[in-house]
Parts: sequence; structure tokens; C-alpha cells
Amino acid sequence: MEDLIAKAAGQLARSRYAVALTGAGMSTESGVPDFRGPNGVWTRNPDAERQAYESYYRFQRDPKAYWIERMTAVTWLKDMESARPNPGHHALAELEEMSILKSIVTQNIDNLHQKAGSKKVLDYHGNISLLRCYSCDTRYDPQQYELERMLAEDRLPPYCQKCNGVLKSDVVHFNEAIPPDVAKHSQEEVAGCDVMLICGTSAVVYPFAMLPRMAKQERAGRKTVIIEINAEATPLTAEGVSDYLIQGKTGTILPKVLEAVKQKRKAEGQ
Ligand code: NAD
Repeated sequence: MEDLIAKAAGQLARSRYAVALTGAGMSTESGVPDFRGPNGVWTRNPDAERQAYESYYRFQRDPKAYWIERMTAVTWLKDMESARPNPGHHALAELEEMSILKSIVTQNIDNLHQKAGSKKVLDYHGNISLLRCYSCDTRYDPQQYELERMLAEDRLPPYCQKCNGVLKSDVVHFNEAIPPDVAKHSQEEVAGCDVMLICGTSAVVYPFAMLPRMAKQERAGRKTVIIEINAEATPLTAEGVSDYLIQGKTGTILPKVLEAVKQKRKAEGQ
């Protein structure tokens, strides 16, 4: 494993444009459960999976009922707001600070990359700490809406200040399309990268899972190095989409990769 860490560090140090794709495994060490790991939300409670698939239809059918349920139900999502970034998040933020990592495209909705200080984060599946207009995709800080008061005064759902469209959580529900701005920027990041780190994702949720496959396609003879860091092998490992897997916890491995990059830079006098 130490050989692979040194190899990844060398490839990152020499990279022109490195990006990271991240998933729920990044945040399990922050106490936020993933979906499909051994302690995953759906592994423990398969009914939660069925409910998750119904959220978007509930919103479309009856936005007021969706909002009342969202604000009164006790769900695992509430714990996310108090979660803190772990050493894996901090290592990625520091790699960006060093101008090595150019962006993160995350499936996570937990805002932990931003809390760790990462600046260029594309929230592919939205962000739990924002609201988004269903019609024009404008995002809002929920503080602007006094949602608790709206609930008490029976004034839900909230409406967009620009187009008067109904607001939902920014989180992309199952069967909901990826917001076009994020989808476009993510594809551009993938198309332009020469090194891709894929951290803590089972890579089975589409269209996100297309991104590593797009990177794999060689363009004009240029090859993108694809490195997976995950607790277990994934379809990307099995199908040879990733060049290699560094198997283990992101909270342990990413700080080691960061340290090895720093050593390389020091040795090269940078
Ligand atoms: P997933 O649950 O399908 O897969 C997580 C993967 O990470 C698994 O392969 C697991 O073995 C691995 N893993 C778990 N802990 C790890 C660790 N500490 N280090 C390295 N690997 C670890 O997650 P996914 O692929 O991101 O897809 C799930 C979907 O659910 C996503 O769309 C995401 O939006 C959503 N989700 C988000 C959060 C969050 O925001 N933190 C949490 C759960 C689910």
C-alpha cells in the first residue's frame, strides 16, 4: 500500500489538472453513514431506500406536504448539519491550497468539503444547507426564509424571490435531474483533468458513475490517470476503469498522500 501512496503522490505532484470525485465513504469517518456500506442507512433499513425514492414525487404532487414532512420528520439527514470534516476532507482542501487539486465533484450533500475549506466544490447531488428553485435553479440560504416560522404560520412552501417558482431542498432526489449548471461544470472538469482521485464511492449511482468512465476515454492520445481510494473494490476496479485501488479509509490514506506530495515537493526544492 505504501508503494501505491508514493505512486499517487508522484502523479499528483506532476499533474497539470487534478480533480477529485467523492462519495459517501468520505464522510463515514465524520459520523455520517453511507447508504450501501456495512453500516449504511439502507443496509440497516431497506424501507428508508423506498422512502427516498418517493421524496421527489411527494414534492411534485404536494409541495406543502413535502415541506411539512421535511421539517417535522426525524431523519438521519438532521445529524449532517452538526457533522465536522475529517482528516480526509482536510487533506483534499490542503491539496487545493497547494494548487494541485483544481476541483472536487462530490455526490455528498453534507457540505463537509466546504466546511474543511475546499473552495471549488461542485455539489453534484445538491447541498443540504441550501434551497433551490424548482423552476429557475436559483439557490438560497434557508436563513432568508424563516422556515420554522412559515411552518408555525401555515405559510409553507417557500417561493423563489426571482420567478416565484416553488422551492425545494437543493438536494437532488432520486429520479430528479441533476441541475444543468452543475452537470455541465462537472463534465468540463472531468474533460480537462489529467489525474482523477475517486474517493469513497461505490460508483453505482448514475449519471455520476459516468464521470470516471468519461475520463477513461482517451482523448487525442492523452491518458487520464484514475486512482481509487476506497474501503473495498468497486465496479470501477473490476472493470479496469481505475488504474489502481488504494484500499483503506479515506481519512487515513488521503493525509498520507498529502504528506508524500509535500515530501516530493521538498525533495524537488519547490
Ligand atoms: P455508497 O454508500 O453507495 O458507497 C460508499 C462507498 O464508500 C462504499 O464502497 C464503501 O465501502 C466506501 N466507504 C465507506 N466508508 C469509507 C471510508 N472511511 N473510506 C473509504 N471508503 C469508504 O455511496 P455513494 O457511492 O456516494 O452513493 C450514495 C448516494 O447517496 C450518493 O448519491 C450521495 O448523494 C448520497 N449520500 C450522501 C451522503 C453524504 O452526503 N455524506 C451520505 C449517504 C448517501
